[in-house]
Amino acid sequence: MTDWQEKALRDLEGLSFSLNKPMAELTTFKIGGPIDLLAEPATVSELERVLDFCAAHKLPWMIIGAGSNLLVRDKGIRGAGIKLAGEFTEWAVNGTTVEAGAGVLLADLAKAVSERGLSGLEFACGIPGTVGGGVYMNAGAYGGEIADVVVKVQAVKEARGAVWFAKDELGLGYRLSRFQTESDLVITKVGFNLRPESAELTRARVDEFTRARAGKQPLEMPSAGSVFRRPEGYYVGPLIEAAGLKGFTIGGAQVSTKHAGFIVNTGGATARDVLSLIAHIQKVIKERNGVDLIPEIKVLGEE
Ligand SMILES: Cc1cc2nc3c(=O)[nH]c(=O)nc-3n(C[C@H](O)[C@H](O)[C@H](O)COP(=O)(O)OP(=O)(O)OC[C@H]3O[C@@H](n4cnc5c(N)ncnc54)[C@H](O)[C@@H]3O)c2cc1C
Repeated sequence: MTDWQEKALRDLEGLSFSLNKPMAELTTFKIGGPIDLLAEPATVSELERVLDFCAAHKLPWMIIGAGSNLLVRDKGIRGAGIKLAGEFTEWAVNGTTVEAGAGVLLADLAKAVSERGLSGLEFACGIPGTVGGGVYMNAGAYGGEIADVVVKVQAVKEARGAVWFAKDELGLGYRLSRFQTESDLVITKVGFNLRPESAELTRARVDEFTRARAGKQPLEMPSAGSVFRRPEGYYVGPLIEAAGLKGFTIGGAQVSTKHAGFIVNTGGATARDVLSLIAHIQKVIKERNGVDLIPEIKVLGEE
């Protein structure tokens, strides 16, 4: 145990946290070595305690949502991971306005509000991330994205407390938000504005998107969704499939036989397997089509 890990046992007493937690347990890829400290604050003041602790010990920290867009390297992450719990997993509806904690699962929220005949979040019913991760990535599907429905975001900054940002301050673009460059901001709460509609219609849309996804994506296998950003003028899946790479395997990492834009963990894949496979796909597609495939997933941690 390091010096600061011993101090964590004392200074973070009363808070939910663990040491050396395998990131494989916190990511949908089920890959990744241990993170030194995983803290699960339940309130803004607990979150501030964790941020103060990290500042006092000069520890790098990051927010871990549902880990559905992460590839963590095999030696894990030095520093702290913060997983929002407690009040951050609550949400409330007021008319057509929804306020959700950043730790709420986006798909659960999308389905629940659609059941009530509130339209706008149906596109997110199959996105396995949190509300915070959804804003961070400006997640989207089936022609919709977070930018269409978000109206404000509350974020906490070390030693500065909670601040609300209006939609036009969020820097939203294709899989882009200001939070990707301002990594000292923790998204804590998100306000959405939805449209009233017949619950029959919103429910039908959720069913349609759920069926479409299950038919096309390898949801039965661990993955981090689409590996690459969509390049101008192309769809990634067909591009990789046309190059004959569907099913191509390195170690435990495989180009999905169902959707070539996904890499799946067939069991025991290491981050090194996935990174080698990504590099191979990039090389083949560059040679064949002259296209640079840029990863959409976030790669973290030590080799
Ligand atoms: C099967 C599958 C299907 C998918 N389909 C889609 C899809 O259709 N569309 C799509 O856009 N994505 C899709 N994804 C990718 C992924 O679900 C999204 O990118 C999602 O928004 C990530 O959210 P998360 O909570 O899992 O974030 P994580 O993967 O945990 O983190 C991603 C980044 O967000 C940051 N972050 C998370 N929460 C916060 C916060 N509260 N404050 C500050 N930073 C934060 C993290 O630090 C990290 O840098 C899919 C993934 C899978 C596995």
